[in-house]
Amino acid sequence: MTIDLHTHSTASDGTDRPAELVAKAAAANLSVVAITDHDTTAGWDEALGALPPGLTLVTGAEFSCAYDEPDGTRISLHLLGYLFDPDHDGLRAERARLRVSRLGRGRAIVDNMIADGVPVTWNRVVEIARGGAVGRPHIARVLVENSVVASVDEAFAALLSSRSKYYVPKADSDVFKAIGLVRDAGGIAVFAHPLARRRGAVVGEDVIADMAQAGLQGIEVDHPDHAPDDRARLAVLAGELGLIGTGSSDYHGTNKTIDLGTCTTSRAAYEQLRSLETARQPVTR
Ligand SMILES: [Zn+2]
Ligand SMILES: [Zn+2]
Repeated sequence: MTIDLHTHSTASDGTDRPAELVAKAAAANLSVVAITDHDTTAGWDEALGALPPGLTLVTGAEFSCAYDEPDGTRISLHLLGYLFDPDHDGLRAERARLRVSRLGRGRAIVDNMIADGVPVTWNRVVEIARGGAVGRPHIARVLVENSVVASVDEAFAALLSSRSKYYVPKADSDVFKAIGLVRDAGGIAVFAHPLARRRGAVVGEDVIADMAQAGLQGIEVDHPDHAPDDRARLAVLAGELGLIGTGSSDYHGTNKTIDLGTCTTSRAAYEQLRSLETARQPVTR
Protein backbone atom coordinates (compact mmCIF):
# COMPACT_ATOMS: atom_id res chain seq x y z
CA MET A 1 0.00 0.00 0.00
CA THR A 2 1.76 3.16 -1.20
CA ILE A 3 0.42 6.37 0.31
CA ASP A 4 1.53 9.85 -0.77
CA LEU A 5 -0.20 12.64 1.16
CA HIS A 6 1.18 15.82 -0.39
CA THR A 7 1.07 16.74 -4.10
CA HIS A 8 0.46 19.84 -6.22
CA SER A 9 -1.47 20.31 -9.48
CA THR A 10 -1.93 23.24 -11.85
CA ALA A 11 -4.47 24.60 -9.33
CA SER A 12 -1.31 25.96 -7.65
CA ASP A 13 2.29 25.51 -8.78
CA GLY A 14 2.35 21.92 -10.06
CA THR A 15 2.55 21.16 -13.79
CA ASP A 16 -0.09 18.37 -14.02
CA ARG A 17 -3.77 19.14 -14.34
CA PRO A 18 -5.67 17.57 -11.41
CA ALA A 19 -6.97 14.86 -13.79
CA GLU A 20 -3.41 14.11 -14.95
CA LEU A 21 -2.21 14.04 -11.36
CA VAL A 22 -4.61 11.27 -10.32
CA ALA A 23 -3.91 9.34 -13.55
CA LYS A 24 -0.17 9.50 -12.82
CA ALA A 25 -0.74 8.50 -9.20
CA ALA A 26 -2.60 5.38 -10.39
CA ALA A 27 0.12 4.67 -12.97
CA ALA A 28 2.74 4.99 -10.21
CA ASN A 29 0.82 2.31 -8.26
CA LEU A 30 -0.16 4.59 -5.40
CA SER A 31 -3.09 3.35 -3.32
CA VAL A 32 -3.80 6.73 -1.73
CA VAL A 33 -2.90 10.22 -2.96
CA ALA A 34 -3.73 13.60 -1.45
CA ILE A 35 -4.13 16.73 -3.56
CA THR A 36 -2.79 19.64 -1.51
CA ASP A 37 -2.51 22.76 -3.62
CA HIS A 38 -1.33 26.00 -2.02
CA ASP A 39 -4.18 27.94 -0.42
CA THR A 40 -6.84 26.53 -2.75
CA THR A 41 -9.30 23.66 -3.18
CA ALA A 42 -9.80 24.52 -6.87
CA GLY A 43 -8.34 21.19 -8.05
CA TRP A 44 -10.61 18.93 -5.96
CA ASP A 45 -13.56 18.59 -8.35
CA GLU A 46 -11.50 17.77 -11.42
CA ALA A 47 -9.40 15.24 -9.47
CA LEU A 48 -12.54 13.60 -8.03
CA GLY A 49 -14.19 13.50 -11.45
CA ALA A 50 -11.16 11.81 -13.04
CA LEU A 51 -10.35 9.46 -10.16
CA PRO A 52 -9.20 6.09 -11.58
CA PRO A 53 -10.76 2.96 -10.03
CA GLY A 54 -8.87 1.65 -7.02
CA LEU A 55 -7.10 4.91 -6.18
CA THR A 56 -8.20 6.72 -3.02
CA LEU A 57 -8.17 10.52 -3.07
CA VAL A 58 -7.69 12.55 0.09
CA THR A 59 -8.75 16.14 -0.50
CA GLY A 60 -6.57 18.77 1.12
CA ALA A 61 -4.69 22.04 0.80
CA GLU A 62 -1.36 23.46 1.92
CA PHE A 63 -1.73 26.73 3.78
CA SER A 64 0.95 29.42 3.79
CA CYS A 65 1.54 30.36 7.41
CA ALA A 66 3.89 32.43 9.50
CA TYR A 67 5.30 32.23 12.98
CA ASP A 68 6.67 35.37 14.62
CA GLU A 69 9.63 34.75 16.89
CA PRO A 70 9.71 36.76 20.15
CA ASP A 71 12.55 38.86 18.64
CA GLY A 72 10.31 39.84 15.72
CA THR A 73 11.81 37.50 13.11
CA ARG A 74 9.12 36.01 10.92
CA ILE A 75 9.45 32.37 9.91
CA SER A 76 7.26 31.09 7.10
CA LEU A 77 5.89 27.57 7.41
CA HIS A 78 3.34 25.39 5.66
CA LEU A 79 0.34 23.67 7.19
CA LEU A 80 -1.43 20.80 5.44
CA GLY A 81 -5.17 20.56 6.00
CA TYR A 82 -6.94 17.34 5.03
CA LEU A 83 -10.60 16.41 4.61
CA PHE A 84 -11.94 19.77 5.80
CA ASP A 85 -15.22 21.33 4.67
CA PRO A 86 -14.28 23.59 1.71
CA ASP A 87 -17.38 25.71 2.35
CA HIS A 88 -16.43 26.62 5.92
CA ASP A 89 -16.73 30.44 5.93
CA GLY A 90 -13.65 31.35 7.96
CA LEU A 91 -11.36 29.02 6.07
CA ARG A 92 -12.69 30.11 2.71
CA ALA A 93 -12.16 33.80 3.51
CA GLU A 94 -8.60 33.07 4.62
CA ARG A 95 -7.83 31.12 1.41
CA ALA A 96 -9.13 34.00 -0.71
CA ARG A 97 -6.98 36.48 1.22
CA LEU A 98 -3.87 34.32 0.73
CA ARG A 99 -4.43 33.83 -3.01
CA VAL A 100 -4.64 37.58 -3.56
CA SER A 101 -1.53 38.11 -1.46
CA ARG A 102 0.38 35.47 -3.47
CA LEU A 103 -0.30 37.30 -6.71
CA GLY A 104 0.90 40.64 -5.35
CA ARG A 105 3.94 39.03 -3.78
CA GLY A 106 4.98 37.16 -6.94
CA ARG A 107 4.70 40.40 -8.83
CA ALA A 108 6.80 42.23 -6.22
CA ILE A 109 9.58 39.61 -6.47
CA VAL A 110 9.58 39.90 -10.27
CA ASP A 111 9.63 43.71 -10.05
CA ASN A 112 12.68 43.52 -7.74
CA MET A 113 14.44 41.32 -10.29
CA ILE A 114 13.56 43.56 -13.23
CA ALA A 115 14.83 46.63 -11.33
CA ASP A 116 18.13 44.77 -10.91
CA GLY A 117 18.39 43.86 -14.61
CA VAL A 118 17.43 40.17 -14.28
CA PRO A 119 15.75 39.07 -17.56
CA VAL A 120 12.23 38.05 -16.45
CA THR A 121 8.74 39.37 -17.26
CA TRP A 122 5.54 39.18 -15.24
CA ASN A 123 3.51 38.28 -18.36
CA ARG A 124 5.57 35.15 -18.91
CA VAL A 125 5.24 34.14 -15.23
CA VAL A 126 1.44 34.44 -15.44
CA GLU A 127 1.42 32.51 -18.73
CA ILE A 128 3.37 29.64 -17.14
CA ALA A 129 1.03 29.60 -14.12
CA ARG A 130 -1.85 28.77 -16.53
CA GLY A 131 -4.46 30.33 -14.30
CA GLY A 132 -3.20 28.67 -11.11
CA ALA A 133 -2.06 30.42 -7.93
CA VAL A 134 1.23 32.11 -8.88
CA GLY A 135 4.19 30.81 -6.91
CA ARG A 136 7.97 30.97 -6.91
CA PRO A 137 8.27 27.81 -9.10
CA HIS A 138 6.64 29.73 -11.95
CA ILE A 139 9.21 32.52 -11.61
CA ALA A 140 11.94 29.85 -11.40
CA ARG A 141 10.86 28.38 -14.72
CA VAL A 142 11.10 31.76 -16.45
CA LEU A 143 14.60 32.17 -14.98
CA VAL A 144 15.56 28.76 -16.43
CA GLU A 145 13.95 29.64 -19.77
CA ASN A 146 16.01 32.82 -19.92
CA SER A 147 19.23 31.00 -18.90
CA VAL A 148 19.63 33.01 -15.68
CA VAL A 149 20.01 29.69 -13.82
CA ALA A 150 20.42 26.10 -15.01
CA SER A 151 17.56 24.58 -13.01
CA VAL A 152 14.53 25.29 -10.84
CA ASP A 153 16.48 23.93 -7.85
CA GLU A 154 19.30 26.38 -8.53
CA ALA A 155 16.79 29.25 -8.73
CA PHE A 156 15.38 28.27 -5.30
CA ALA A 157 18.83 27.95 -3.77
CA ALA A 158 19.85 31.42 -4.95
CA LEU A 159 17.60 34.12 -6.42
CA LEU A 160 14.33 32.84 -4.94
CA SER A 161 15.52 31.78 -1.49
CA SER A 162 14.15 33.67 1.49
CA ARG A 163 17.68 35.01 2.00
CA SER A 164 17.79 36.54 -1.49
CA LYS A 165 17.64 40.34 -1.88
CA TYR A 166 14.68 39.88 -4.26
CA TYR A 167 12.59 37.97 -1.71
CA VAL A 168 9.25 39.38 -0.56
CA PRO A 169 7.40 37.61 2.26
CA LYS A 170 3.72 36.72 1.85
CA ALA A 171 0.98 38.04 4.12
CA ASP A 172 0.68 34.56 5.58
CA SER A 173 -1.76 33.32 8.23
CA ASP A 174 -0.58 33.08 11.78
CA VAL A 175 0.07 29.36 12.10
CA PHE A 176 -1.97 29.01 15.30
CA LYS A 177 -4.94 30.73 13.64
CA ALA A 178 -4.57 28.40 10.63
CA ILE A 179 -4.53 25.28 12.83
CA GLY A 180 -7.71 26.54 14.50
CA LEU A 181 -9.41 27.22 11.16
CA VAL A 182 -8.55 23.80 9.73
CA ARG A 183 -9.82 22.09 12.89
CA ASP A 184 -12.97 24.26 12.98
CA ALA A 185 -13.67 23.28 9.38
CA GLY A 186 -13.55 19.61 10.36
CA GLY A 187 -10.08 19.01 8.94
CA ILE A 188 -6.86 17.33 10.03
CA ALA A 189 -3.91 19.70 10.61
CA VAL A 190 -0.43 18.42 9.70
CA PHE A 191 2.77 20.49 9.79
CA ALA A 192 4.41 20.21 6.33
CA HIS A 193 8.20 19.70 6.06
CA PRO A 194 9.00 21.17 9.53
CA LEU A 195 12.77 20.94 8.95
CA ALA A 196 13.09 21.96 5.29
CA ARG A 197 16.04 24.23 6.10
CA ARG A 198 16.98 24.77 2.44
CA ARG A 199 13.88 26.98 2.15
CA GLY A 200 14.86 29.27 5.00
CA ALA A 201 14.74 29.38 8.80
CA VAL A 202 12.70 26.70 10.58
CA VAL A 203 10.89 26.82 13.93
CA GLY A 204 12.22 25.16 17.06
CA GLU A 205 10.79 22.10 18.76
CA ASP A 206 9.22 24.29 21.45
CA VAL A 207 7.08 25.90 18.73
CA ILE A 208 6.08 22.49 17.37
CA ALA A 209 5.03 21.55 20.92
CA ASP A 210 2.93 24.74 21.10
CA MET A 211 1.37 23.87 17.74
CA ALA A 212 0.49 20.40 19.10
CA GLN A 213 -1.16 22.12 22.08
CA ALA A 214 -3.13 24.28 19.64
CA GLY A 215 -4.60 21.28 17.85
CA LEU A 216 -1.93 20.09 15.41
CA GLN A 217 -2.42 16.36 14.74
CA GLY A 218 0.54 15.35 12.61
CA ILE A 219 3.94 16.28 11.20
CA GLU A 220 5.64 15.30 7.96
CA VAL A 221 8.59 13.14 8.92
CA ASP A 222 9.68 11.75 5.56
CA HIS A 223 9.98 14.54 3.02
CA PRO A 224 12.50 15.03 0.19
CA ASP A 225 13.81 18.23 1.86
CA HIS A 226 14.57 16.47 5.16
CA ALA A 227 18.05 15.08 5.84
CA PRO A 228 18.18 11.53 7.32
CA ASP A 229 19.02 12.73 10.85
CA ASP A 230 16.17 15.28 10.72
CA ARG A 231 13.74 12.49 9.78
CA ALA A 232 14.97 10.41 12.69
CA ARG A 233 14.56 13.33 15.11
CA LEU A 234 11.08 14.18 13.80
CA ALA A 235 9.95 10.57 14.22
CA VAL A 236 11.01 10.73 17.88
CA LEU A 237 9.38 14.14 18.33
CA ALA A 238 6.11 12.89 16.81
CA GLY A 239 6.09 10.12 19.41
CA GLU A 240 6.85 12.52 22.26
CA LEU A 241 4.11 14.96 21.25
CA GLY A 242 1.51 12.36 20.28
CA LEU A 243 1.51 13.48 16.64
CA ILE A 244 1.00 11.24 13.62
CA GLY A 245 4.16 11.05 11.47
CA THR A 246 3.45 11.20 7.75
CA GLY A 247 5.59 11.00 4.61
CA SER A 248 5.09 12.46 1.16
CA SER A 249 6.79 13.50 -2.06
CA ASP A 250 5.48 17.09 -2.24
CA TYR A 251 5.24 16.33 -5.98
CA HIS A 252 5.06 19.38 -8.27
CA GLY A 253 5.18 17.66 -11.69
CA THR A 254 8.15 18.90 -13.70
CA ASN A 255 8.54 22.00 -11.52
CA LYS A 256 10.68 19.87 -9.19
CA THR A 257 12.67 16.72 -9.82
CA ILE A 258 10.77 14.61 -7.26
CA ASP A 259 8.52 11.73 -8.40
CA LEU A 260 5.18 10.71 -6.91
CA GLY A 261 5.66 8.25 -4.06
CA THR A 262 9.27 9.37 -3.39
CA CYS A 263 8.48 9.53 0.33
CA THR A 264 5.40 7.80 1.70
CA THR A 265 3.09 7.50 4.71
CA SER A 266 2.91 4.15 6.49
CA ARG A 267 -0.32 2.27 6.47
CA ALA A 268 -0.49 2.51 10.27
CA ALA A 269 -0.13 6.31 10.18
CA TYR A 270 -2.78 6.53 7.48
CA GLU A 271 -5.17 4.41 9.54
CA GLN A 272 -4.58 6.75 12.49
CA LEU A 273 -5.46 9.75 10.32
CA ARG A 274 -8.55 7.98 9.03
CA SER A 275 -9.72 7.26 12.55
CA LEU A 276 -9.98 11.00 13.27
CA GLU A 277 -13.33 12.65 12.85
CA THR A 278 -13.39 14.74 9.67
CA ALA A 279 -15.89 16.78 7.62
CA ARG A 280 -15.07 14.82 4.46
CA GLN A 281 -14.02 11.23 3.82
CA PRO A 282 -11.36 9.93 1.43
CA VAL A 283 -12.97 8.96 -1.90
CA THR A 284 -12.47 5.67 -3.79
CA ARG A 285 -14.34 4.89 -7.00
ZN1 LIG B 1 5.28 23.38 1.41
ZN1 LIG C 1 3.82 21.39 -1.00
